[in-house]
Amino acid sequence: MNLILLGPPGAGKGTQAKRLEQHYGIVQISTGDMLRAEVAAGTELGRQAKAVMASGKLVSDELVIAMLESRIQKPDAAKGFILDGFPRTVAQARALDAMLARLGLKLDRVIELKVDPPALIERIAGRFTCAKCGTGYHDSFKPTAKPGVCDVCGSTEFTRRPDDNRETLTTRLGAYMQQTAPILPHYAASGRLVSVDGMADIDAVSAEIEARLGG
Ligand code: ADP
Ligand code: AMP
Repeated sequence: MNLILLGPPGAGKGTQAKRLEQHYGIVQISTGDMLRAEVAAGTELGRQAKAVMASGKLVSDELVIAMLESRIQKPDAAKGFILDGFPRTVAQARALDAMLARLGLKLDRVIELKVDPPALIERIAGRFTCAKCGTGYHDSFKPTAKPGVCDVCGSTEFTRRPDDNRETLTTRLGAYMQQTAPILPHYAASGRLVSVDGMADIDAVSAEIEARLGG
């Protein structure tokens, strides 16, 4: 099964992608995670993306499309994938259509997570991640079971994203409204769009997605 998760920053795409990975045995492909890894590794690509990401704007289509195209052809994506954070512009959606056609792959569903801006601000403000295994948490909505210790790997080191602040979030939300939301009608027209209430709690959102995908 090949899926896209669409939604504004903080909507819960990464959280739901991890659950879909487990449930369907498919792989999450997050362009945001890939770009952060390039920045951390200090590659040329990372150097180009760093300041743009810190400002909350979108990295160039050309760069992200090339990165996605090589990732999608890795062996672990052959059983299926969940695109998280891609496509983000009409040009990326068109490039994805062409890429999938070229590779003989089909897109099953596009899941839109709908969340109100005030809830997004709250989610972004409380988001943190295990520095060792990458498990995502939230100060109020998904705290670690034992304070300061990752539930999954036991690490005591956590990170917060530099772009998870109120000012950058305004730019990121603007980018979503102006550049990403216009993609939705494209997928609605082909009958592949599934819109889900992302305001519900994490388990309820997962249950709705799985039900809408047929279990
Ligand atoms: P995205 O990948 O769309 O930016 P995340 O999955 O990282 O969003 O979620 C943002 C934050 O909100 C995280 O801290 C996560 O734990 C929390 N979160 C995710 N889904 C929900 C939900 N349904 N209710 C409350 N908090 C949530
Ligand atoms: P995310 O982790 O999806 O919230 O993405 C973090 C940042 O990475 C974004 O604000 C953009 O600067 C950049 N980014 C991630 N995915 C894309 C994409 N598909 N197109 C352009 N920029 C992206």
